[in-house]
Amino acid sequence: MAVDRIENPFRSTRASSDRHAVPPAPLPLRGMTGHEEEIVERYRALPNTATLCNELVARCAVAPGADFTEALSRVRGLTVVERDLALLAVRRLSLGDRVAMEVECPACRARSAADFRLSDLPLPTVAPPSEVRASLTDASVAVMRLPTAGDQEDLLDAGLQTDAERRTFLLARALVRLGDREGPFAVDAVRALGVADRKAMEAALEAALPDLDLGMEAACAQCEHRFTATFDVAAFFLPR
Ligand SMILES: [Zn+2]
Repeated sequence: MAVDRIENPFRSTRASSDRHAVPPAPLPLRGMTGHEEEIVERYRALPNTATLCNELVARCAVAPGADFTEALSRVRGLTVVERDLALLAVRRLSLGDRVAMEVECPACRARSAADFRLSDLPLPTVAPPSEVRASLTDASVAVMRLPTAGDQEDLLDAGLQTDAERRTFLLARALVRLGDREGPFAVDAVRALGVADRKAMEAALEAALPDLDLGMEAACAQCEHRFTATFDVAAFFLPR
């Protein structure tokens, strides 16, 4: 079957304007070796892609085959966008700037080639804030931190059924202080919050997140169906 071509599939949904630059990769990295190639293949069938992403960055922060336990705990402490920037750095160090992937249209199953350069990606131009604040309905303030790569991995492991449960999980992780109560907060405490307060906290986190979305916004060349293709980590790191 002929494979159609999509240029620049990464979506850029938010304008980056009056913001300052994201710091460079937060830890020194090297390109992938056979050690990491084997790990990508071993993990590619797992539903939790965050586990693979975190371990891949941690392994590429130490010598090939060395103990990466400490590096992994540092990677899990990064914000998700910092971890993703580190992944892009590993990909570029390993295989260069050009990425050629295939995506499948969910409507007609036609496969399209998604061909682009990493240097064309709209990278975030904002340094993630260490603290995010939301005003609540009783005039108190919720203080939060951004979700980390470790939160993302644990969230996927938790196997939650609905988006509301996932929001509860992440808000409980993110919440540092609620009025005069200090965290950590149990999931049940966040579940008990009013929906207006939860909404305000989610909106504050969303507004503070730098824009790096590795989902691919694609339009099928066969049927013109528009869809978001899942970021395929294995294809990204093990091109055919
Ligand atoms: Zn299609």
